[in-house]
Amino acid sequence: ADSAAASGQADRQPSSGLKITKPASNCVKELQSFRQKLPAFKVKGEFLKAVSENQVLVISGETGCGKTTQLPQYVLDEEIASLRGADCSIICTQPRRISAISVAARISSERGENLGETVGYQIRLEAKRSAQTRLLFCTTGVLLRQLVQDPDLTGVSHLLVDEIHERGMNEDFLLIILHDLLPRRPDLRLILMSATINANLFSKYFGNPNYSYTGILSVLNMQLSYLSSSFVCSFVWDVDIDSKYKNYSASTRLSLEAWSGSPLDLGLVEAAIEFICLHEGDGAILVFLTGWDEISKLLDRIKGNKLLGDQSKFLVLPLHGSMPTINQREIFDRPPPNKRKIVLATNIAESSITIDDVVYVVDCGKAKETSYDALNKLACLLPSWISKASAHQRRGRAGRVQPGVCYRLYPKIIHDAMLQYQLPEILRTPLQELCLHIKSLQLGAVGSFLAKALQPPDPLSVQNAIELLKTIGALDDNEELTPLGRHLCTLPLDPNIGKMLLMGSVFQCLNPALTIAAALAHRDPFVLPIDRKNEADAAKRSFAGDSCSDHIALVKAFEGYREAKRNRNERAFCWENFLSPITLQMMEDMREQFLNLLTDIGFVDKSRGAGAYNQYSHDLEMVSAILCAGLYPNVVQCKRRGKRTAFYTKEVGKVDIHPASVNAGVHLFPLPYMVYSEKVKTSGIYIRDSTNISDYALLLFGGSLIPSNQGEGIDMLGGYLHFSASKSVLELIRVIIVGFDNGDLQ
Ligand code: ADP
Ligand code: MG
Repeated sequence: ADSAAASGQADRQPSSGLKITKPASNCVKELQSFRQKLPAFKVKGEFLKAVSENQVLVISGETGCGKTTQLPQYVLDEEIASLRGADCSIICTQPRRISAISVAARISSERGENLGETVGYQIRLEAKRSAQTRLLFCTTGVLLRQLVQDPDLTGVSHLLVDEIHERGMNEDFLLIILHDLLPRRPDLRLILMSATINANLFSKYFGNPNYSYTGILSVLNMQLSYLSSSFVCSFVWDVDIDSKYKNYSASTRLSLEAWSGSPLDLGLVEAAIEFICLHEGDGAILVFLTGWDEISKLLDRIKGNKLLGDQSKFLVLPLHGSMPTINQREIFDRPPPNKRKIVLATNIAESSITIDDVVYVVDCGKAKETSYDALNKLACLLPSWISKASAHQRRGRAGRVQPGVCYRLYPKIIHDAMLQYQLPEILRTPLQELCLHIKSLQLGAVGSFLAKALQPPDPLSVQNAIELLKTIGALDDNEELTPLGRHLCTLPLDPNIGKMLLMGSVFQCLNPALTIAAALAHRDPFVLPIDRKNEADAAKRSFAGDSCSDHIALVKAFEGYREAKRNRNERAFCWENFLSPITLQMMEDMREQFLNLLTDIGFVDKSRGAGAYNQYSHDLEMVSAILCAGLYPNVVQCKRRGKRTAFYTKEVGKVDIHPASVNAGVHLFPLPYMVYSEKVKTSGIYIRDSTNISDYALLLFGGSLIPSNQGEGIDMLGGYLHFSASKSVLELIRVIIVGFDNGDLQ
């Protein structure tokens, strides 16, 4: 009865392409002896003793030593042995969906069980757990949501927070909550796990004598001895570069200037892979890249590489944190004897996922990192140099079962200049999603709550976030959640993207809203080959037609892709139109996820059919209005300057249109405003992906639709147009919006 109830409750969705079958018992035995060889096994006794004696425990140990897969199991086995097993509930959080699934699957097979029995996982909209589940892996986001219903984590006996060295926003947020919760739950055990860590910082935070924990804090350090006896690390600057390597360096003409430019040089990465394949021995290659874009570009480059020859000799696999479906087995399994495995990964392979047979690591030295300029309200996601800790971590991913080599594609001076540790995310990202979350958890005033963080964010960033939430109508003047704000809290998305989806479903242009939201949350599918830039630009422009909109171009391209897919010629379609099939596939998956989220919170009823939500999907003005609702306050004013147009924002003044936009090079625009997806700072300040919109769209859809309780008038256009409206005028406007049925506002 248990399992029937459980599968009804949890198995709402098929799992992400994982097929885990019960392994044969000899396989379990093999895994058992493997487990006993892991460094974690050596400290098992000490670890369990520390858990029983301390409320908070900080564990650090090198990646691969067995923290994630072993420590939660030790706790579980100890609880089972002490007959408390039936009552225990162990939760282990992971920063990413993909690691929550893969770790739960791994542990189940180590125990010879099916996934979802004793060990399960829960990620947003997807779970494999049952009433027997005692050890649950979940994303940090899922746990934070659980805290909304259950602020005391009733029934949870042990909480393990993994990968805290990453200092992700959610993890730092969770730590503040736990800091307050621990004195209320003296029986709850907290175990913080990390690879390289500044343990002092954490001990100070939890070791504060003002907090009366039942135990004292203990820090346990596990050292990993590499399985291989010798470990070679080859760097670009090494003194004794061997001759093969010299050739490689010479052929790519390494120069210092090449390093200082910010875009990642894929040619260099390709050359390194080529070099390894042609001159080095067998073994898998793990390549660290900055993001999905680079992964897919490199995938294409490798496919087209003539030097590498026969493609059947390679198994090239992408590995990215937001991959909703992943062919798990292939990443971990040894490839067939005559095939070389090449994994193209982002940061995720740095510590969350261990691929044992990696012999060569190629490290580009960069990672995509958000940075936030609170003064200019400018958020950028740009490749930047990683920290020394990350570089060390990446290096250590090679040479686990035999000697390995790490190719660092950057010179020593760069390495010397790297930060010791990366800045925590809470200090370098916009805080609006976090602020909404704090509000929904009723944790009091946002500012004073965040001041309790391990490293508190700049008050100006907090203020900006609150202001934005007020501007888009998620918070009212008293900083309380509005009805819109409450809906946005239930979506694990950036509030602007969430608002676009909500408005898309309410105003019946759901398809374009889903497509645009997927591209915003993930990335744009248009590829820009340097050598065929003009043709690529022309293809994008033909999708845009005369809409003056990158977003419409995107929607049309996606529709074209779907049509081509129905006719089974999507490959050719993508090739002809300079679109990335991998990104489009990813967008399809994300659209599905978003649709499920909207269904989950009652905004979409799938039984009504897609048509019910798409009556205005082909109405350009309506789609622009929805874009305006979602992207506001990302607005620039188009001002005529002679025969050209100049663009102005409130914060930074004049900006330019990104050269990849369909609006680049257009001299005059039919409508007076432009909404845009993001502002980036490179050589200048550019707005990416823009749509020309009317003042009506801005007036009606920009900002809050909810009249303010205080004050006589409302600054409807957030300073773009000063417009004072009484409540009754706003009511009237809302009537107009509801009656806005043929897109003809004039
Ligand atoms: P840590 O969390 O300390 O980085 P893990 O507990 O994740 O280490 O992994 C311990 C070891 O178990 C790894 O070194 C790897 O050899 C092995 N391992 C972990 N996950 C898998 C998997 N899904 N498939 C095969 N081996 C795995
Ligand atoms: Mg781990």
